[in-house]
Amino acid sequence: MKWLRDRLPAGGGLRDEDWAGRHRLLTVLLAVIMAALIVFGVLQGDEHTPALLLTVGLTLPCLVAASLLRSRRVRAVFVALGYTVACAGFVSLAHGLTEAHFTFFIAVAALALYRDWAPFGAFLIATVLHHGVFGTLVSDHTYDHDEAMAHPLVWALLHGAAVLLAAGFQIVSWRLTEVEEDRARDNLDESQAQLSVAFDQTPVPMAMFSPEGVVLRTNAAYREWLRLPDELPAGFALADLPLTPVEAGEESMLGLLTASREPMTITRQYRRDTGELIWVQVHGTSLHDRNDELRLIFVHCFDVTATRDHEAELRYQVRHDALTGLLSRKAFEHDLAILLTESPEPVSVVYLDVDRFKSINDGSGHHTGDDVLRALAARLTQVVPAGALIARLGGDEFIVALPGPAGIGLRVGNSILACLAEPLALGTAERIGLPVSLSIGVTTAFGPSTADEVVLAADTAMYAAKRAGGNRLHVYTDDLRVPVQERIAAEARLRRALAADPRWTLPLWFQPMVSTVTGRVIGAEALVRMRTEEGTVLGPGQFIGAAEETGLIVPLGAHVLRSAVEHLVHWSDRLGYVSVNVSPRQLAEPDFVPMVAALLAEYPYLDPSRLVLEITETALISSTVDVSERLTMLKQLGVRVALDDFGTGYSSLTWLESLPADVVKLDRSFVAGLAEDDRKSSIISAVLWLARSLGMSTVAEGVEEIADWEALRAAGCPAVQGYFFSKPLPAPEFDRLLAAGTTVADVVNASFGGVHLNETTGSALAG
Ligand code: C2E
Ligand code: MG
Ligand code: MG
Repeated sequence: MKWLRDRLPAGGGLRDEDWAGRHRLLTVLLAVIMAALIVFGVLQGDEHTPALLLTVGLTLPCLVAASLLRSRRVRAVFVALGYTVACAGFVSLAHGLTEAHFTFFIAVAALALYRDWAPFGAFLIATVLHHGVFGTLVSDHTYDHDEAMAHPLVWALLHGAAVLLAAGFQIVSWRLTEVEEDRARDNLDESQAQLSVAFDQTPVPMAMFSPEGVVLRTNAAYREWLRLPDELPAGFALADLPLTPVEAGEESMLGLLTASREPMTITRQYRRDTGELIWVQVHGTSLHDRNDELRLIFVHCFDVTATRDHEAELRYQVRHDALTGLLSRKAFEHDLAILLTESPEPVSVVYLDVDRFKSINDGSGHHTGDDVLRALAARLTQVVPAGALIARLGGDEFIVALPGPAGIGLRVGNSILACLAEPLALGTAERIGLPVSLSIGVTTAFGPSTADEVVLAADTAMYAAKRAGGNRLHVYTDDLRVPVQERIAAEARLRRALAADPRWTLPLWFQPMVSTVTGRVIGAEALVRMRTEEGTVLGPGQFIGAAEETGLIVPLGAHVLRSAVEHLVHWSDRLGYVSVNVSPRQLAEPDFVPMVAALLAEYPYLDPSRLVLEITETALISSTVDVSERLTMLKQLGVRVALDDFGTGYSSLTWLESLPADVVKLDRSFVAGLAEDDRKSSIISAVLWLARSLGMSTVAEGVEEIADWEALRAAGCPAVQGYFFSKPLPAPEFDRLLAAGTTVADVVNASFGGVHLNETTGSALAG
């Protein structure tokens, strides 16, 4: 039995909608057959009326039950019974015609559509019963030959067996279909299992949409990513997702995906419902059916926010200066090139450099330096018109570029200068206000120019402003280019000189200072010279500026100081003191005082007061460090301090009082022509009186005429320095002067005798 059961179809496996279709077909067919039987019965004549009524009377309830009852199986059984009645009715109306019996075979084939044992069985049983009962009762209306009429039950069974055999083939076909379906289902199950592993359990958010945008299926990663519930409401569509595209007006993602037959990748920024911005990369593939109809769209989603942010961060870093947030040099050059080619108006470039920034850094520390740059950047951003390019080129150099009518660069440059009248506020806690000034160069490109050319021109103008003392603006003109090239050459020359033997390449010359009381040499000012590779000797005016700007003044100054002290030690018994010039930049150097101390420590027997350090007034005014404090520290070492070039610049007599200086050096401009100028002589008398009363000594510089010397002597100026006695001399010549013990009287006599000392030394100078 089991063997048989395993080989017979299980039946009842049709899906509801498939079953309903077949049932409808069979029911309608039954109704049509019934109508045809009525017509046929009427045509056969009155004698057949009872058979016709019985046929219709039995078929009709079957049709009603088949249409109205609920159970699939019962409805199918009624259809089967209806077919039995219809076939039997037809046989009866046809006087048992053998060919009319064929309808039973047609019916059994039709009922096989149900693929169910119940209607099948009901039909077989009803057919056998009909043949047996009606064959016996009305044999001439059931069979059309004598043999069958004589043995109706035998023929009923024979007919039943024939129908069963016909059914057998239906059963085989039905069974084969079931086997194929089972196999297909297994395949489907396997595909489903694979899909479920690949889709549901992957950590990549994935979803499927209908072409209309309805969300058909999502995986757990997708729901978790978008914080969706496990069960989505029916009809949940793409528009219901908690994501809004940031760029409005773009073609919708769905539109793009449905339009493309090829897989595509789209990256867009979205705003979550929480407000958070995310970047999403969607890989979409569309699935078409056999008829080329778009069935669904399958998407993988990657949240690429971190990568995008990182890329944006990198791009920002490349384009911006880390300290100030302004554009970087690279970005500026790039943007300026575009501005120059695209701007219909002229482009102005403003180049800015902080004056004495190194002394801010060295004196107040790099943090303060950084604060200054940041505060300056903030102020620039406020002053410069919106839309201009503002960059930090590095160090203390800034640059601004903007299109506009000629003159706009000048206006912006001037407003930047003006805005610095207010000191920069550094650090919120301390509210330190630091006065900072800028040197500004401006240029305007009217025609086609490259970014490099424009920047170089603005830079050149800036250097001109710097050389003129800073805190000012220069507009570029072509003749500015030469000094810049000279400056660059001077810097290179100085570097080479320092790298070689500085005793030879940067020798010291000495200019004597003589006492008005004794007329003898009491001290000397050490003045540096540069011997070039060609053997020419250059004065300090040709390289001190470059040394200051580049910071090379620090090693140069150290060399001068050391060399001066060595010479002083060498002339110890013949020379009272040596006076050395110290530039503002050197003085601001934090290492300056320790360097002097270390030098003096090398000569323990040298009286430190025999070293005089000359500081100019401008050093006092412009320095960013506390100069008084520096000078006090120097004085604690025992060295003396001289105020150089007094009377130039903003000299004020009150300076004298507040500064710890020992010597005042009256500038040449004050001294020259003193004998003939009453105003000059009264100023000099006042300064001499004040210096004396403050306990300071005075040296008059630049004395060229005997008359001035006499006037200074008469006014009580203790010492003088000037060409009337001697120009600066190379060390060997100065040595001979000391050895000869030359006095002012000798010089005066010599000039009376027609041999002017100055001229001899003058020729030595030139050589
Ligand atoms: P200074 O300190 O005022 O030096 C005096 C300058 O006046 C020297 O010029 C000197 O030659 C010149 N001079 C002296 N007497 C007369 C005179 O009777 N008539 C005229 N017309 N000039 C006179 P020099 O040597 O060219 O130096 C120029 C400046 O260079 C110096 O001015 C000083 O500020 C600076 N300097 C020189 N050597 C050094 C140095 O080693 N370090 C630093 N930082 N600066 C230096
Ligand atoms: Mg000097
Ligand atoms: Mg001087």
